[in-house]
Amino acid sequence: MASAAPSVVERFAPSPTGELHLGHAFSALTAWEAAQAAGGTFLLRMDDLDTGRCKPEFAQGIEDDLRFLGFFWPEPVLYQSTRAAEHGAVIDDLIAKGLVYPCVCTRAEIQAAAGAPQEGAPDGPPYPGTCRGQSGLPSDQPHALRLDMGKAIDFLGGNEAVRSLTFEEIGVGPNGERGTIPLDPDALIEQVGDVVLRRKDGAIAYHLAVVLDDGFQGITHVTRGQDLFPSTPIHRLLQALTGTPTPIYRHHRLIRDENGRRLAKRHRDLSLSVLRAGGATPADIRASAGL
Ligand code: GLU
Repeated sequence: MASAAPSVVERFAPSPTGELHLGHAFSALTAWEAAQAAGGTFLLRMDDLDTGRCKPEFAQGIEDDLRFLGFFWPEPVLYQSTRAAEHGAVIDDLIAKGLVYPCVCTRAEIQAAAGAPQEGAPDGPPYPGTCRGQSGLPSDQPHALRLDMGKAIDFLGGNEAVRSLTFEEIGVGPNGERGTIPLDPDALIEQVGDVVLRRKDGAIAYHLAVVLDDGFQGITHVTRGQDLFPSTPIHRLLQALTGTPTPIYRHHRLIRDENGRRLAKRHRDLSLSVLRAGGATPADIRASAGL
């Protein structure tokens, strides 16, 4: 007898650094509707790694907005900040494998050394490698930990092995990408480079946290905006390095204002709390998001 396909688990993973706007609503509705259509589960996670900007009242507002839209989640909300011990253990393992190195560079130093930003670089200009290969951990200075991309590719078996790593795109990337997408080791070296895995303040960095926590929550489908499509090869590589399963990805278009700018906090009038206060129903919000 054929075994049943694993049940679909979708998630919405906002950072509680502000109010939800129509762009967030579009993302959450897309994930929710995909979960409903598949008879699956929708989970909520708070990506609260940026402790300076995350606030409990924003997290509460996000929950209120999602409940207003009619969503529910069968598990308690997962706060990424509660997973520091598990994140730290994975970092220790990557250190033991010799795949990370300490970096004391400031943002200004990196920008000055790297020159003009390159097309397709998800985190700005790739790190120029100043601290790579320096021996001895600078225990007395604040330092980030970076992935040594070249060593990571070698660890996984080299360029050919990395090209055989793929992810499934069932939405669409910013340049029409869809289907089975292989990693490109040359682009990982030249355009992505040695990404930060642990920040100078000691917090795990976004790319590793999202991979580990999607794995922890058993997420089968990652629904998110096209702005994060260029980060997906990094996530796929980190999944391979940490033995974390690869979900299916559904990147979606971004909601823009009349000037073509992505929605952001400055678009206060398009925040769900303002729309709700003005009498908008869940159906109105769906329609305003173009669904
Ligand atoms: N926390 C991310 C954000 O707020 C979304 C999670 C993801 O990258 O998939 O943009």
